[in-house]
Amino acid sequence: MADFDAVVVGAGFAGLYMLHKLRGLGLTCRVLEAGSGVGGTWFWNRYPGARCDVESFSYSYSFSEEIQQDWNCSHRYAMQPEILAYANFVADRLDLRRDIGFGTRVSAAHYDEQQQYWFVDTSGQGSFRARFLIMATGCLSVPKVPDLPGLANFRGEVLHTADWPREGYDFAGKRVGVVGTGSSGVQAIPIIARQAGHLTVFQRTPNFSIPAWNGPLPESQRQQMKNDYRALRTKARNSYAGDYADEYYLSILEMTPEAREEAFEKRWREGGFNYQYAFRDLMDNAAANELAADFVRRKIRAIVRDAATAERLCPRDHPIGAKRLCVDSEYYETYNRPNVTLVDIKSDPITGFSADGLKTRSTRYPLDTLVLATGFDAMTGALTAIDIRGRRRESLKDRWRDGAGAYLGLAVAGFPNMFVITGPGSPSVLANVILAIEQHVEWLGDFLRHAKAHGITEIEADAAAEDSWMAGVRDSADRTLYPQANSWYMGANVPGKPRVFMPYVDGFQVYEAACKEVAAAGYRGFHLARATDVAA
Ligand code: FAD
Ligand code: NAP
Repeated sequence: MADFDAVVVGAGFAGLYMLHKLRGLGLTCRVLEAGSGVGGTWFWNRYPGARCDVESFSYSYSFSEEIQQDWNCSHRYAMQPEILAYANFVADRLDLRRDIGFGTRVSAAHYDEQQQYWFVDTSGQGSFRARFLIMATGCLSVPKVPDLPGLANFRGEVLHTADWPREGYDFAGKRVGVVGTGSSGVQAIPIIARQAGHLTVFQRTPNFSIPAWNGPLPESQRQQMKNDYRALRTKARNSYAGDYADEYYLSILEMTPEAREEAFEKRWREGGFNYQYAFRDLMDNAAANELAADFVRRKIRAIVRDAATAERLCPRDHPIGAKRLCVDSEYYETYNRPNVTLVDIKSDPITGFSADGLKTRSTRYPLDTLVLATGFDAMTGALTAIDIRGRRRESLKDRWRDGAGAYLGLAVAGFPNMFVITGPGSPSVLANVILAIEQHVEWLGDFLRHAKAHGITEIEADAAAEDSWMAGVRDSADRTLYPQANSWYMGANVPGKPRVFMPYVDGFQVYEAACKEVAAAGYRGFHLARATDVAA
């Protein structure tokens, strides 16, 4: 059995930075990664059109001045191959690969209370013993394959956006169906439509999408951003969303109707998430939210020529922003193409599949290829897929049966020395995730340095501290419109999953201040023990 100070699971942006941090602390570490390369999300999600929805200059590591100066992003929103190349660039630059075991899926991790060690098992790639277990398994890393009736009968190709063939896929001339119109579907649909013979989109629920207005970054702008990096990163670090755009400076309800229309139009023209974050009342006032939602619906009607199709694309079942906004390139325009059909499977549900197509209650659709853009078992799926057992062999899956939680979104009572990067109860997916990762890795790095300096061998979240933290997370969410959507933030996209709002909604900057305060108070809410304390 191989022995390390720490085992890190996952080699996405979280695992890569964690490894670098642990090395800097002089700790031995092994990263275990199921995939055959680094990059996590960007390794797996290779579907056409995949790219970031936080701008490239923000969606990148800030911890190394050298890396941020040497990397060049080509577009406002980089495409998947470029982001994957960036992850590889970082791995090479920091010489990370030699401590990563690729093709290694962690199947179990059990804590031995006497020894204060985690024993980690993999599917055929060996076992490991480590003092610390750091789960960098990602919030969106377990693809959700829906239980579509009779799918096994279909003899055509079935592809999931989050497990896309590495060699790509040629849609030329094919009859293609897409199920799913979240961010993945919204990005993939315009590109597939340009290649396919015919594309049928099977939509259950429409989402709000804001244009990306993506394009190449001129060299002068790139240089300017690099020169301004220090100020931009500071601004992001002190913001709600972990980004450097101006936010929360307008109130929808306080504006005159004319000023409001102008403000919506301006944010629509600028594109991206600022349509949400510019307005301080958008997520906590239903009337304000409805005005912002209505503006987008009017845009959809203006873009999509067929009135019935436009109406089908207009979201009405949730407040805008309560599901993650999509950021698109010609998504609505795609429905003006003669080779694209939109089917509403809420009113005309899928009833089955034949060898060569899909059937709804009213119609048969011949298909060569079915693309599932059906999302993820988000926030918890990668963790509950592993047999994780803490004190008294309690399983994490059982612990989270009624809803996931972690103290600071980082540590779970009863699971000592285990830490979850961007876990439930932290800003994670409501922030620029790379910055959320950096903050967790850095805070945890400081904690482990403190532990090393003081001979602490066991760190455990206090159960009451965890409960109170998660009660705060829920109370804050309940003061917003977020819980009003059947979103993956709520676990609502996975049948049987408890409905608990998982991310921390009070803002990245407020969260980071809370973490700093916990550290300054001697890591309040954690039990710290030395091996001798336990022996005694
Ligand atoms: P991941 O990148 O998901 O990496 C986790 C790794 O853990 C994976 O490689 C996985 O194989 C591995 N793993 C999981 N379980 C095991 C196991 N049992 N054994 C071994 N290995 C395991 N966020 C943003 O902020 N901005 C964006 O623009 C953005 N765009 C996105 C686009 C897509 C298509 C998706 C799906 C997500 C996007 N996100 C975005 C969220 C994105 O997941 C994060 O930004 C970030 O990449 C997460 O990094 P991570 O290292 O935490 O997790
Ligand atoms: P998602 O937002 O969960 O969307 C899944 C889609 O599949 C929804 O339209 C859903 O419909 C549909 N669906 C699921 N099960 C279905 C079923 N049984 N029958 C019919 N339809 C079904 O997943 P995603 O699009 O992969 O995005 C997940 C998250 O990943 C995003 O919110 C974002 O955070 C991140 N992401 C970001 C980008 C980016 O732009 N950078 C791109 C992709 C993903 P319902 O709504 O009715 O459930």
